[in-house]
Amino acid sequence: MFSYRHAFHAGSHADILKHLTLIHLVEYLQEKPVALTIVDTHAGAGIYSLIDGFASVSKEADGGIYRLMQYAANNPINPGLQNYLSIIQAENLTKDLSVYPGSPFILARLLRAQDRLKLFELHPKEIDILRHNISELKQAKQIDVYAVDSFSRLKGLLPPPSRRGLVLIDPSYEDKQDYHSLGKAIEEALQRFATGCYAIWYPVLSRRESADLPERMKKIATAYKRSWLQVELRVENAPKERRLQASGMFIINPPWTLEKQLTESLPILVKALGQDHGAQYLLNSFEA
Ligand code: SAM
Repeated sequence: MFSYRHAFHAGSHADILKHLTLIHLVEYLQEKPVALTIVDTHAGAGIYSLIDGFASVSKEADGGIYRLMQYAANNPINPGLQNYLSIIQAENLTKDLSVYPGSPFILARLLRAQDRLKLFELHPKEIDILRHNISELKQAKQIDVYAVDSFSRLKGLLPPPSRRGLVLIDPSYEDKQDYHSLGKAIEEALQRFATGCYAIWYPVLSRRESADLPERMKKIATAYKRSWLQVELRVENAPKERRLQASGMFIINPPWTLEKQLTESLPILVKALGQDHGAQYLLNSFEA
């Protein structure tokens, strides 16, 4: 259960899609001054070195953030991607990236004084690193860190006091049970807080649970009369490769601006990160 360490995947193409989408969501929800509560149900360590440790072994950032930065240095990119890159760059002292911020750091840096961030992490090593990393931030007092199973505890935080909330659900799916727990947690969350914005990351894999995930999410969203948006980014289609080639985000109650923003960013990501002719994106939405 505890073999997954996000450091192996820090700065990958999947992180880019997830964090780009996440930034769009937070910035939209902050357009009104009312306090925003953000829950990150699967936090990881918070921030990762790209030059030593796990990330330097896997080198996933080479096909992700480094590749995008190189593209952006030689080609025009849209404001959404520029904003994403400047947030990643802001964690680094030099232009050459040495660290990549995970969702807790990206979210922490975006907090306004009235906002709160709730982080869940179960891994015995990751939780210690996360707690240490968060304690160093000036936003630390606005952040709670919980070392418990988020799937069962999420509902207890909903609805947030201001009834304005964003929930990122980013499991590792190393255990098949995650697919089942996700569906249950989303249903419980929608029962308590139907108007919340929910962002679910998923790997695009041939295994049945993964292939079925978007359809299951659509069914749940439809049952609760919620709008949804599905976005996927594939960077290659080499059948024998073992690394992750595509990932997606499923958003329940997406802001009306998200589709347009992703429509601008996705063709650029396909060009920047595409490894072969299989590179492509998918963007579907439904308005309830
Ligand atoms: N959201 C992070 C980011 O974008 O930087 C990456 C998170 S990583 C994909 C998933 C994390 O969830 C792992 O660190 C894992 O230990 C943790 N985890 C797994 N099951 C969990 C659970 N039931 N509750 C809380 N954390 C869990």
